[in-house]
Amino acid sequence: MHWPELQQVLRNRLNEQAFATWIQPMRVLRDEPDSLVLGLPDVFGLDWFTNHYRDVLEEELKRMNPHALLELRIEAPEEVSPEAPDASPGAEDRPGPQPLQSPTPPNGSPANAVIQDRYTFANFITGPSNQLAAAAAHSVSENPGRAYNPLFVFGKAGLGKTHLIHAVGHEILRKNPKARVQYQTTEQFVNDVVHGIQTKRMAEIRRIYRSCDVLLIDDIQFIAGKEASQDEFFHTFNTLHAAQKQVVVTSDKLPHEMKDLEERIRSRFQWGLIVDLQPPELETRLAIVKKKAETDGIPLGDEVAMFIAQSVRSNVRELEGCLIRVSAHATLSRQPLTMELAKTVLKDVLPSRSRLTCDTILKATATHFDVKIQDLKSSKRARAIALPRQVAMYLCRKLTSASYPEIGRALGGRDHTTAINAFKRVSERLAEPELRRHVEQIEQLLQE
Ligand code: ADP
Ligand code: MG
Repeated sequence: MHWPELQQVLRNRLNEQAFATWIQPMRVLRDEPDSLVLGLPDVFGLDWFTNHYRDVLEEELKRMNPHALLELRIEAPEEVSPEAPDASPGAEDRPGPQPLQSPTPPNGSPANAVIQDRYTFANFITGPSNQLAAAAAHSVSENPGRAYNPLFVFGKAGLGKTHLIHAVGHEILRKNPKARVQYQTTEQFVNDVVHGIQTKRMAEIRRIYRSCDVLLIDDIQFIAGKEASQDEFFHTFNTLHAAQKQVVVTSDKLPHEMKDLEERIRSRFQWGLIVDLQPPELETRLAIVKKKAETDGIPLGDEVAMFIAQSVRSNVRELEGCLIRVSAHATLSRQPLTMELAKTVLKDVLPSRSRLTCDTILKATATHFDVKIQDLKSSKRARAIALPRQVAMYLCRKLTSASYPEIGRALGGRDHTTAINAFKRVSERLAEPELRRHVEQIEQLLQE
């Protein structure tokens, strides 16, 4: 059964309108351990869905179960019959009429309707890893076309590029609701160009892209190797830039790392400002988890928040995914959101951790601090032993599914309250760089 959990996850990833329009009405034709078959009402719906949401859905499904296959079919609601799930032909390879993919959604709302409500500056947590990028994006939205043009936001997957570029659009529209803000993924831009050429409607495409006040193009790295689209982008860029209209692009590669990118475009990217997003530090991750929980009304205790923040290091999307998964699980199984639940749910997400035992952790901790395992288990109170002991208990709690009494026993028969206190103490002190370094180095050791 994937669908109920998947729906919860998607509700969080997509904006409300997209969720209500596309996800909610989907018919589940089959939901089995290794396959999920969903029905869409018509060819147009299937096309639109495939172009805009299939990737997201597939990505989330794969995350729940790497082997699960997603199949989309055309299925008028009245045809749905649970007894005959195979009744309709597979729609995957059906050619179908390809409507011109206009950059606006089908039901006619303005182009900026795709800007996501929740991707605002207010919801973007900053820390040393992303401060500069956020500040640059903010000043661009204060002063579009004048501050930095173009603004090139660089960062690896899941670090907030899309969030930031939406926030720019949002902020500009908040200040000036009449501004013509055009947000587009590069994939969609390329599609538009291809369809424009095929259907001889390039003039229309050009008008849309060249008449805006602000052009936001997400994931520009995908334009590499696509000649017609690069040409179109180049001229669009020149037109907009000359008119002091703002251009913002994001990319997971730096301009000089992009192969098959025309030199003239590369050089345009250097005209403005290039800022980068780095993986957030622990404090920032913790703040992101807490903020997200607050926004979504998820009752999240400090211990679980810290556990999640420590579990995922280099991708905010995965960090949020963990939170959502844990919370969806709690809701669906009507259980409180405890550490036990969090650990169980995230065990598959963090597979390398699940094999660890308290003994392995004791050993690694002893090695790291250059103390004896017997000493960790002993009643010695010297600081040189007490700190490693606390760290060991903390790591046992964090990295294994052992309960506090079990951890107490593993450390020479201590009481479970000792383990609880150790975990708390270390958690609270992780902001101290020295202690954090110890913890991280031991974790590193455990991964090897
Ligand atoms: P990218 O486009 O770089 O792959 P996204 O912008 O899609 O990444 O970010 C992934 C998820 O993480 C989004 O839900 C986004 O809101 C969230 N996110 C990323 N960075 C932050 C941050 N600094 N504060 C709050 N949420 C963030
Ligand atoms: Mg993105």
